Amino acid sequence: MVTEIAAPQPLDTTTLDELRAAVSGAVLGPGDPEWDAARLPWNRLVDQQPAALVVAADAADVAATVRWAARHGVTVSAQPNGHGASAALDGTVVVRTAALDDIWVDTDARVARVGAGVKWGDLQTALDGTGLTGLIGSNPDVTVVGYSLSGGLSWFSRAFGPGAASIRAAEVVDATGAQRWVRSDEPADADLLWALRGGGGEFALVTALELDLHPAPQIYGGLLAYPAEAAAPVLRAFLDVTRSAPEELTAWFTLMHLPDAPFIPAELRGLSLAVVTATHLGSADEAERLLAPLRTAGPVVRDTLRPVAPGEVGLLAEEPVDPVPAVLAGTRLHAFDDTAAEALLALAGAGSGTPLLQVQLRHVGGALARERVPAAAGTADEPYLLTGLTIVPSPDLAPLVSAALDQLFTTFAPWSTGTAPLTFLDRDESIRRAYPAATIDRLRAVKAAADPAGLFRGNRPVDA
Ligand SMILES: Cc1cc2nc3c(=O)[nH]c(=O)nc-3n(C[C@H](O)[C@H](O)[C@H](O)COP(=O)(O)OP(=O)(O)OC[C@H]3O[C@@H](n4cnc5c(N)ncnc54)[C@H](O)[C@@H]3O)c2cc1C
Repeated sequence: MVTEIAAPQPLDTTTLDELRAAVSGAVLGPGDPEWDAARLPWNRLVDQQPAALVVAADAADVAATVRWAARHGVTVSAQPNGHGASAALDGTVVVRTAALDDIWVDTDARVARVGAGVKWGDLQTALDGTGLTGLIGSNPDVTVVGYSLSGGLSWFSRAFGPGAASIRAAEVVDATGAQRWVRSDEPADADLLWALRGGGGEFALVTALELDLHPAPQIYGGLLAYPAEAAAPVLRAFLDVTRSAPEELTAWFTLMHLPDAPFIPAELRGLSLAVVTATHLGSADEAERLLAPLRTAGPVVRDTLRPVAPGEVGLLAEEPVDPVPAVLAGTRLHAFDDTAAEALLALAGAGSGTPLLQVQLRHVGGALARERVPAAAGTADEPYLLTGLTIVPSPDLAPLVSAALDQLFTTFAPWSTGTAPLTFLDRDESIRRAYPAATIDRLRAVKAAADPAGLFRGNRPVDA
């Protein structure tokens, strides 16, 4: 049984001053001039109201913050960046970890050690020329630690599984304020390591992770874009390609409606497109052979497919990296037939008038269906993940966007399992949509043992 810490109270000046004296980084509270800018997460749609912020200078600051929080009965959270922001961090003391930016790579042992502030783009760039890759997702600005603790669906998950299953070890500050490594060769830590591999930030504050690296001597990737009016044959070709694709090939089909906004390349502003984005762990020739049906499926108006370095993989989907108000949500599909294709084009294709910036069908499956190591992230054998992503330029448009997502997921109910990877939950959704009841029960048991006072709060609380 987890003993809940009392409902958050505003922190008094003396208590905050004690925290300031305990850390070498900055401590910000409501009333500080920088507060309003600093408190917001990457996802500006979440008007996050923490009790205070600690901009940790190093891992010792993280430990000092946890010891202070334990003394005062305050909940504490890590938020390196805030792509996964939810309302759960309101009232907590939020630790920013950008300064924990060390990257260490051992190519022989195929392992990387990264600090809790390292972004995926930086780790991947450090791997250029090594013939190895990490399990990066579609966005280079997401942190390795935030993504991996939350499951992590990568371009290369069809070949190597979820990001969480590549966590080899974690350097944590535990609920006693002690800094230590959690490793797979320590039987007493087996449950905690299992929970860290996909259960999120509810069990400890992580200051560094050691991750498996995976062979990638050659990577080919990029996108083919077509006018949205040509989407039907392109979607058919995408389904043909993905139904027989080897695990080295990952392709995503996207219906995209680009706003006339500065973050969109000038020549693409205002266009509606059907886009296939792909990566292949192998030669250019083999990738082109596998993707050949897509080359002739419609008039290609943009082609960025090319051999790429690991450091370029996070750029292939051309997603926004600067903070924006955004909505991202998904659902796994156990099948995708002709009726599903018609429904997708009607809801999000040319002339649909959808307010969603993009509706995407990610080909998944492969190694995601196999257990590599014990991990809360678990396995998933569904072949596709349907996602909606959009930018919400003003809060009054949020209901319109929510209605469009509801309509998308309701329409797709016949093909959907109703589940999603933890990193594809909408900002107000519970962890229960990501994991089965048995996983939630075990996560709660691990939390009760590792954090009996409920000191740590992640963006997806296990008791919600
Ligand atoms: C445009 C976009 C594209 C995306 N693409 C993908 C994708 O391809 N694949 C995918 O899987 N996800 C994807 N995501 C989701 C993203 O991976 C998650 O939001 C993830 O949580 C990481 O984001 P972050 O680094 O900003 O972490 P934050 O949002 O800052 O943190 C998320 C949570 O992780 C935990 N956490 C973070 N750091 C620590 C720490 N040091 N100690 C303890 N707990 C910690 C906490 O619970 C925290 O609330 C995408 C999101 C966006 C907005």
